[in-house]
Amino acid sequence: MLRVAVVGSGPSGVYAAQTLVQQREVPGVRVDVLDRLPAPYGLVRYGVAPDHEKIKSLQGSLRTVLEDERIRFLGNVEVGGERLSTGRLLELYHAVVYCVGAARDRMLGIPGEELIGVHSATAFVSWYSGHPDAAAEVFDLPGVDSAVVVGAGNVAVDVTRILARGTAELAPTDMPQPALGALADSGVRRVAMVARRGPSQGRFTTKELRELGTLPGVDVGTDPAELALDPVYADPVAAAALPAVARRNLEVLRGWAGPGPGDAPRRIALRFYLRPMEILGGPDGRVTGMRFERTAPDGSGGVTGTGVHEDIDAQLVLRSVGYRGVPLAGLPFDSGRGTVPHAAGRVLRAGRASVGEYVAGWIKRGPTGVIGTNRPCAKETVSSLLQDAGALARRDLPGDPLDALRAAGLRPVRWPGWLAIEAAEADLGRSLGRRSVKIPDWQGLLGAAGPL
Ligand SMILES: Cc1cc2nc3c(=O)[nH]c(=O)nc-3n(C[C@H](O)[C@H](O)[C@H](O)COP(=O)(O)OP(=O)(O)OC[C@H]3O[C@@H](n4cnc5c(N)ncnc54)[C@H](O)[C@@H]3O)c2cc1C
Repeated sequence: MLRVAVVGSGPSGVYAAQTLVQQREVPGVRVDVLDRLPAPYGLVRYGVAPDHEKIKSLQGSLRTVLEDERIRFLGNVEVGGERLSTGRLLELYHAVVYCVGAARDRMLGIPGEELIGVHSATAFVSWYSGHPDAAAEVFDLPGVDSAVVVGAGNVAVDVTRILARGTAELAPTDMPQPALGALADSGVRRVAMVARRGPSQGRFTTKELRELGTLPGVDVGTDPAELALDPVYADPVAAAALPAVARRNLEVLRGWAGPGPGDAPRRIALRFYLRPMEILGGPDGRVTGMRFERTAPDGSGGVTGTGVHEDIDAQLVLRSVGYRGVPLAGLPFDSGRGTVPHAAGRVLRAGRASVGEYVAGWIKRGPTGVIGTNRPCAKETVSSLLQDAGALARRDLPGDPLDALRAAGLRPVRWPGWLAIEAAEADLGRSLGRRSVKIPDWQGLLGAAGPL
């Protein structure tokens, strides 16, 4: 028998576990999927926006995998922490596949990021998604009239949409009650989503972008002068040569180029060619706005500063300029790329494949691609593991790893515990007159999981 630990129950971990048990080359593989959280599914539960129910429903197919009798879910088990080192884990299993994601946000690196009211989009997403690490976050939304979101990817679009969306449309989602309440009391009327580069260079997908224009009670606008700065905007030949997504994005943005605000209660402005320079604050330490330098295309796909500045009022600033991996104690880490060095999924230590250690998902290739991209990524890794399986399986293991985890003081949440959390979330929703509602804190989750 080959006993494998998969660390992380997000898409890449679940796809790795599925590939391991469904393949036929190496019979008798058993997989434990460990996660530091009591709840499975990684960013599908704690990142994908609550109003994107179709994508959220992918949890159903991840669930089917985790219910396979050859797979055990062990939540509330942190690897690389005080109680369980990477070395100890490798003693307990023939192989370990690290699928721990890339959950840290990048800073802008400009003055004022410490001001009250400046947050990462990661923190905001975690808060409205009910991530237990974000339970103590405070977003003073009643005091906000204008918000700035810095970034031009789908996460920037997500947080812009959630800020502008009415709570009547969010109430049917599983958003935690405190977040829903705070958004219901929000004073936000204007959201500026600001990009350093041009409209044809946005990293958002067209479906997500277009959705902004469908929000009830929300005007969306772009500045025709900023669109026109983009060299491909007025050049049909250059526009035709763009990738299809960029071409479609440009058409959507063109449709929003207008004379100015309409009369909707909320307005989203999509701004381009503005480089963050400084976050401005008042004497009370709260953010009051953001200073940008206007940029211009430099002729080779980049932008250059023009020395012209623009200030945008804001009582809330969310930065969404990319994710990065976090080093896991005991695993090698490439701090330049924010990933674990690997060759076809085999973890490299000092340039050589480390016996029995593998990596998949965002921590392997960086924070790119959609959920489905993690499937071929996990398959490549598992294929390497299976090639090594003959040598790996020769080692005798000390017994059931669950006993060793408990002996180390860990209290794993097993699948019935997770089902109990789900049932408690359904009960909570019923008591609030809503569908299932997430429990947003550690105590609540572990309490709902029952005796561990
Ligand atoms: C805000 C946001 C919204 C997104 N929306 C979409 C979308 O709508 N559609 C789409 O296709 N893609 C979306 N994505 C991308 C998608 O979520 C990722 O491609 C995918 O989740 C990456 O999978 P992963 O398994 O590598 O990492 P993750 O999903 O992050 O899973 C990593 C898991 O590892 C666990 N873990 C971390 N450290 C440890 C440790 N030390 N010990 C034990 N466990 C640990 C974590 O708790 C987590 O459960 C979104 C991403 C973000 C950030």
